Amino acid sequence: METAGKARRNPAAQEEPRRVVILGATGSIGKSTAQIIAGAGSAFQVEAVAGGRDPLALAQVARALGAKFAALADPAGYSRLKDALAGTDIIPASGEAAVIDAALTPADIVMAAIAGTAGVRPTFAALSAGRTVALANKECLVCAGTAFTCKAASAGARLLPVDSEHNAIFQALGSAALETVEMITLTASGGPFWTWTGEAIARAAPEQALTHPNWSMGPKVTVDSAGLMNKGLELIEAHHLFAVEAERLSVVVHPQSVVHGLVSFTDGSVTAGLAAPDMKVPIGHCLSFPQRRATAARRLDLTAIGRLTFELPDFARFPALRIATDTLRTGQGLPTVMNAANEVAVDAFLRRLIPFGEIARIVEQACEAALAGGATREPVTLEDALALDTAVREKTRSSMRQQPAFLAQAR
Ligand code: MG
Repeated sequence: METAGKARRNPAAQEEPRRVVILGATGSIGKSTAQIIAGAGSAFQVEAVAGGRDPLALAQVARALGAKFAALADPAGYSRLKDALAGTDIIPASGEAAVIDAALTPADIVMAAIAGTAGVRPTFAALSAGRTVALANKECLVCAGTAFTCKAASAGARLLPVDSEHNAIFQALGSAALETVEMITLTASGGPFWTWTGEAIARAAPEQALTHPNWSMGPKVTVDSAGLMNKGLELIEAHHLFAVEAERLSVVVHPQSVVHGLVSFTDGSVTAGLAAPDMKVPIGHCLSFPQRRATAARRLDLTAIGRLTFELPDFARFPALRIATDTLRTGQGLPTVMNAANEVAVDAFLRRLIPFGEIARIVEQACEAALAGGATREPVTLEDALALDTAVREKTRSSMRQQPAFLAQAR
C-alpha cells in the first residue's frame, strides 16, 4: 500500500503528514473528523475511509479528503460506490472484510467511529496491528473492555478517548499516578428529559428523545443520552480507559456541558477539562496528539454562559443510570449483557415498537436473567464477548416480542 500519494507531494512541509484512517466516516464523528482534516491543509493524509450503508456519502468524503481506499460495509452498495468513485484513484471495496482492510491500512492514527457493536471488530483489528486508535465508539469497551485493554497492552497500541468526558479526563489526568486519584467525575448534561416527570419520560416518542439540548450526535447515542444510559456506558468506558474501579467513578449533572470531566486528587486538588460542547475539540485533540494543532472548533466564552450549575443525578427518573452503576459494580459479564440488551431496546424504540420507558426495563430484565442464570463470567476474549453479545441480543428480541408493550403489528 506504500504509494506516492500526497505525502510525497509535499516537500515544503516541515513534517510528514499524519496518516489517518477513518472508520465510520459518514457518521456524526466521521463528518467532524473530515472537517478538521479538510481545514488542516497538508497536515493529514487520509489513507482509508470506511462507512456503513451510504455509498454516495462515503464516495463524497473519500473524494473530499483524497483518500486512497474506500470501504463500504454493505455489499449491496458496491456498484454505486464504484460508480461514484469513477475517474478517481480511490480504490472501492465492500463487505465486512473490506472494512477490516481499511482498519489495517498502515496509518499513524485510526479514528474508530463506527457506531454500535458493528464497530467492535474493525476497531479490535486496528488495535491488534498496534495502531494508535482514537476511540469514539463506547460499545467496544463496554462489550469487551478487558479484551480491548489486554490487546492494546500486548500489541503496544494506544487508545485515545474521543468521547468528550473521557477526553477531558485524559487531559486533566496528565501524567498523574493513579494512586493519587481520589475520584474521577463525568458530567452529564441531563439530556432533553432532565426537567420532565418520570411518567412523561416513560411515554416519550423518538423525536423527543432525539432532540439533545447541547450536543449534535448520532441517533443511538442521543437516545442513550436522553435516558442517561449514555452516562452509564461512559462510566464503564472510564473504568477500562483509566483503570479505576467503580468506587472512584462518579457522575454529576451539569446542564451547560462546559465542564466535561474532573479529576480529584488525594491532596484536595481538582483538575477539570472545559470546552464548548463541540465534538471537534476532542476529535482535534486526538488527531494531533501529543501535539496540538489549531482547529475551527467552537470557542468557550465563559462570561457569555455566565453560570455553571451542578446537580446530583436522579436515579428514580433515570433508572438506566442506576442499572449501569450496578452493572459496573457487579462486573463479570454484566456490562456485555447490558450493552447488548440496550442496543436491541434502543433500536426497537427508534422503530416505534416500544415506548421510551421500556428501554431501561428491558435492559434490567436482561441483566437479572443473566445473573439468575449464573452465566456471568467476564468474557476476556473478543470472541467470548461477541458470543455473549449475540446470545443476549437473541434472547432480548424474543422476550421483547412477548411483552404487552411491544406493538401488536410488529409481532
Ligand atoms: Mg460523552
